[in-house]
Amino acid sequence: MALGNVIVLTHPVIHTKLAELRDHRTVHRRFRELLEEIASLMVYEVTRDFPTRDQQVRTPLETMTEQVLARPVTLVPILRAGLGMAGGVLRLLPEARLGHLGVRRDEQTLEPIPYYQKLPPDIAETEVLLIDPMLATGGSATAAADYLERAGVRSMRFICLVAAPEGIKTFQLHHPEIPIYAAAVDRQLNEKGYILPGLGDAGDRIFGT
Ligand code: URA
Repeated sequence: MALGNVIVLTHPVIHTKLAELRDHRTVHRRFRELLEEIASLMVYEVTRDFPTRDQQVRTPLETMTEQVLARPVTLVPILRAGLGMAGGVLRLLPEARLGHLGVRRDEQTLEPIPYYQKLPPDIAETEVLLIDPMLATGGSATAAADYLERAGVRSMRFICLVAAPEGIKTFQLHHPEIPIYAAAVDRQLNEKGYILPGLGDAGDRIFGT
């Protein structure tokens, strides 16, 4: 498939951790650790071309001009699995605000149902990182991006761990301007909306439910 604005992060350290994360024997304590570690590594790449501004710094020897992030960052994990990546992103961007968006899939129709929203009031002035480990049907991610655009967000990137071609297609159809960062693009969805080969239900594996 043509990937368009999908950026696949093929870093060997990310994939070594992803292999362990996918493994069915990985217990939830280790799953959480790995997911956070991968999220930190991913966000380093995702923010590579964020806008910067000059900042004067006085070192012990001289005054100089450094480049620092120009705009605040807002992290918006899609509940609940997105929370599993939030800690890893915050480790790298501790000043970031944290919004929450609850979008769940109806088990029968697979349609996204929004059920909770809490965002920083000035979110429109910030760089937004929308996060969900699994881009499966694309329904939840599309609904979340719709909601954020209605809230005034102008600069947004979507970060997922594993994407399905079906989810990429749906998301790009509605939001061709939003870049998708993924650690892997897997083969397909099964009839229940799970990604193959995937890693199973991310939420259940994070929270041990
Ligand atoms: N959500 C998950 O947690 N896993 C999938 O494979 C698809 C959606």
